[in-house]
Amino acid sequence: MKSSNLGYPRIGENREWKKTLEAFWAGKVEEEDFLLQMEQIRLQHLQKQKDKGIDYIPVGDFTLYDHILDTAVMFGFVPKRYEYEGGKVPLSTYFAMARGSQTAVASEMTKWFNTNYHYIVPELTGIKPTVTENKPLLAYREAKEKLGINGKPVIVGPYTFLKLSKGYEQKQLPALILQIVPLYAQILQELAEEGVEWVQLDEPTLVTSITADEMKTVSYIYKQLQEAAPELKIMLQTYFDSVEYYSEVINLPVAGVGLDFVHGLEGNLQSLATYGFPKDKILGVGLIDGRNIWRSQLTDKAKLVEIITGTVPKERLWLQPSSSLLHVPVTLSQETNLHPLIKDALAFADEKLDEIQSLVKRALHGETEVMKEFNQSETARNDLAQSPARNRLEVQESVASSLSQVAKRPSSFDKRREDQQVLELPFLPTTTIGSFPQTIEIRQARRKWRRGEWTTEVYDQFVQEQIKTWIGIQEVIGLDVLVHGEFERTDMVEFFGEKLGGFIFTQNGWVQSYGSRCVKPPVIYGDVEFLQPMTVKESLYAQSLTKKPVKGMITGPVTILNWSFVRDDISRSEVAFQIALALQKEVESLEALGIKIIQVDEPALREGLPLKKSAWGTYLDWAVKAFRLTTCSVQDSTQIHTHMCYCDFHDFIEPINQLDADVISIETSRSHGELISSFNDNKYDKGIGLGVYDIHSPRVPTREEIVNVIESGLQVLEPTQFWINPDCGLKTRGIEETIQSLQNMVAATRLVREKLSVHNR
Ligand code: GLN
Ligand code: ZN
Repeated sequence: MKSSNLGYPRIGENREWKKTLEAFWAGKVEEEDFLLQMEQIRLQHLQKQKDKGIDYIPVGDFTLYDHILDTAVMFGFVPKRYEYEGGKVPLSTYFAMARGSQTAVASEMTKWFNTNYHYIVPELTGIKPTVTENKPLLAYREAKEKLGINGKPVIVGPYTFLKLSKGYEQKQLPALILQIVPLYAQILQELAEEGVEWVQLDEPTLVTSITADEMKTVSYIYKQLQEAAPELKIMLQTYFDSVEYYSEVINLPVAGVGLDFVHGLEGNLQSLATYGFPKDKILGVGLIDGRNIWRSQLTDKAKLVEIITGTVPKERLWLQPSSSLLHVPVTLSQETNLHPLIKDALAFADEKLDEIQSLVKRALHGETEVMKEFNQSETARNDLAQSPARNRLEVQESVASSLSQVAKRPSSFDKRREDQQVLELPFLPTTTIGSFPQTIEIRQARRKWRRGEWTTEVYDQFVQEQIKTWIGIQEVIGLDVLVHGEFERTDMVEFFGEKLGGFIFTQNGWVQSYGSRCVKPPVIYGDVEFLQPMTVKESLYAQSLTKKPVKGMITGPVTILNWSFVRDDISRSEVAFQIALALQKEVESLEALGIKIIQVDEPALREGLPLKKSAWGTYLDWAVKAFRLTTCSVQDSTQIHTHMCYCDFHDFIEPINQLDADVISIETSRSHGELISSFNDNKYDKGIGLGVYDIHSPRVPTREEIVNVIESGLQVLEPTQFWINPDCGLKTRGIEETIQSLQNMVAATRLVREKLSVHNR
């Protein structure tokens, strides 16, 4: 039995990777120095894994931005607009693809499967690929020469690479495969010549709902690769769920297959029992969660290893994390302020590698060898389990009783619409999504308050002034439903996490989101409870300044859940219901004090969809229920809004309908045409705001452009149902462009209203 790792976080114990990168971009470090500093970070990470005794250490998983971008660049997939002329891709071109340049926009970025990591989408349009540089080979040599590590090069597999790329049509796929497979073959041959023993090819696509034909393509690819480099051992690595075509996958001509026994535990275990495992292959057992931060129940993990050894003998097992450790923070050693009860129950990347070592030790040398580690982990988990934070009976009872009831608003939408007439809104009502520009001044104010340089009174006063200014601006612009602007929030999840019971924040629990951007997700460690109103003060103040309705603004339960690290001792749905019931109290507080419209944002609801379509139903059932629990107790006359960022309405119309929100706003300005056609096919009668301009660009849309967008929306929507708003919050925009854009939006709406009235006369 051996231990293996699939990938190590890049960002460093103190985010030195991020800092180095940003210093280079800011021109504070020369390229040569920059590369040297990055090398140091990379070597430190390898050394740490070596010191821990990991047998198969990944190399080539490190990157200067994103590993998928690395792969695209390695094959020369550099779109024309970057004016690349062949050969090794210059660093400036590499970063231009990631971040854009004066002359060329950046490549698109999107979520890596169901994680919060974002990769750069390779553009394959009209480019004939070649190997520009064998990156895994360089990484292998470096580890060997500098540290004496016989590393395991990691590369994203050909099928997953092609599936994640864009710029080609389905019918071009076979031709692309013929082009790209020889390049992978070349890379692998060179690795074999160098004396590399194992290479890890990541194919997470194999856990998604692929077709039998796709599986045939995968078989073809791996047959070619095996023939090209027969001496090289390929570890075909899957993760994030169980594989779909198990018996085909395990019989591919590769030397090992890695399976996720955390997120795909049931499916993979079942397949293993049913179909067995080939006698000549290594099984990579992903048993330590690479996506969460809790210490493992080591006794259970050891039992799992025993079960698996019933089918595959020890000699052919590697114990490893369920996925790359990229998705978890680096080390607990920097957490000096965490309560020991919580800290002891956590395991970040470094501690997870220790867990793997303990499990290997136990399997090889017996229980007594690892008694200490096993006992410590048991005690830590038990202590937390017995703590008052995880035993809030009131919370648990209210979740239990909410489960026996349907979460439903008392009246139908038709009846509610009648009662909501009291809002006296014009047709084509105008509004915004919630946030207004978070200027440097606002961020500085918050910092001063956090550091104690400002008292809470001074800070509150400052926030109130911002609210007052922007209520004024919105009135002058002539918007119909106003917002307070969210100036008091840095982040839409953190803000609520800090105010609800059951959440905690680490000092240094950063994970990479994209490029140098890191996020520090809140940790849900206990039963979630409402402690005191969280948004009421600002909303009421804003409402006191105007006769127009001001929307109350909260983040929904599913988004709070999906953007946090969640306790692993109870189901995610149960945590979602706890959050929902706490937020229900917030909604009720807002309503009780006279707020007539309440928006519950759920931008992460859609992105939380499981990778397998077959699992969508269960997820949507509880996600929709959590949203409805949050919003169901208000009066008919209170209008509930929700907002989702990009959303493919077509395949999501039923869940949206189920949310039963009176109004939904979604980001569609970039795919308006498609959206309109989906309304032709589906009936939707509630209020809907189809973002009429793109807030992701500083460009001010003209009145005429917006008129066109509104008119095309009116082909499928009723003027009373169609809300006019930008497509997302405005917090990243500048003040001037925001005001001008909203002025044009209101002017466009007035023009369309006039046209419609003349028409109806
Ligand atoms: N109300 C939030 C805002 O305007 C919504 C943000 C989001 O959808 N991500 O900023
Ligand atoms: Zn949004």
